Amino acid sequence: MLLVASLLIYSRVFCWGFYMHEQINYHAVFLLPPEMMILFKQNIGFLTEHAVDPDKRRYIVASEGAHHFMDIDHYGAYPFPDLPRNYKAAIEKYSADTLRAYGIAPWWVQTMLGRLTTAFRNKDFRLILKNAAELGHYIADAHVPLHVCSNHNGQLSNQLGIHAFWESRIPELFAAEQWDFFIGKAVYIPDPGAFIWARVLESAAAADTVLRCEREANAQIRPDLKYAFEERKGLLVRQYSTAYASLYNSKLNDMVERRMRQSIFAVASFWYTAWVNAGQPSLDSLAQDSLTTTEQQEYQQLNLEWKKGKVLGRDCEE
Ligand SMILES: [Zn+2]
Repeated sequence: MLLVASLLIYSRVFCWGFYMHEQINYHAVFLLPPEMMILFKQNIGFLTEHAVDPDKRRYIVASEGAHHFMDIDHYGAYPFPDLPRNYKAAIEKYSADTLRAYGIAPWWVQTMLGRLTTAFRNKDFRLILKNAAELGHYIADAHVPLHVCSNHNGQLSNQLGIHAFWESRIPELFAAEQWDFFIGKAVYIPDPGAFIWARVLESAAAADTVLRCEREANAQIRPDLKYAFEERKGLLVRQYSTAYASLYNSKLNDMVERRMRQSIFAVASFWYTAWVNAGQPSLDSLAQDSLTTTEQQEYQQLNLEWKKGKVLGRDCEE
């Protein structure tokens, strides 16, 4: 027998949704040069599965949340000239506590790039895979407009639930069948800081459109057609209907697909840049490595904590 679950229970959010983070890391592997592909394709299962570890860690470590977002509108108006793009300069101006309170996504991406570069330099199998999988997560989050906006779940404009609608419901309905993930090749990024800030500013500029289009769609749809019940793993779940999602997606003019494609390109290019900056080490000898039993147990522990836990710090659904 099916049970009825509320929309809220189902749509508890894992930034970009678990499915999309996995897809972004998965597709990024195919943009890499053969010298990297030998290791990354061999471990594509790990890179896909562990794309969501940073969100799971938010259930265990309170300080993790700040890595996933930036309420950039706290710092004035677009393009936020008062906010130093350099982390040290920003700390001097606002203090480290303030920066963390409003999110440090673009700086954390650069920290993770440094960690991945070191792992390549040391030819450390475990840390290459771990840091690559997690760097992919943070880059993808920075591409989501509502991750760069204080009205991150429509809580200030009576649009509660829009976060998961944009980043989970729309891609789950349309990505596999309708979207194109043929993207080309990873490129070397000479200035990773400038690159990720440019993506963050694109996200910030798009946030108004994300909110406005949902308001328009809401005004157009017949109320009884807005939601539908769908079965999910034995539960009957109240969810935004396909008709409403289609209407919203068309108003967005394929924005979600474009941001996802840009995410895939950025993830692959950051991975490639780390490898180049590490001196292009040969990865052939690592290709047949696997994780030790202890290392696998650490991941099982993370899963356990996540399943029983509650998000510490900000939850996208709040
Ligand atoms: Zn996240």
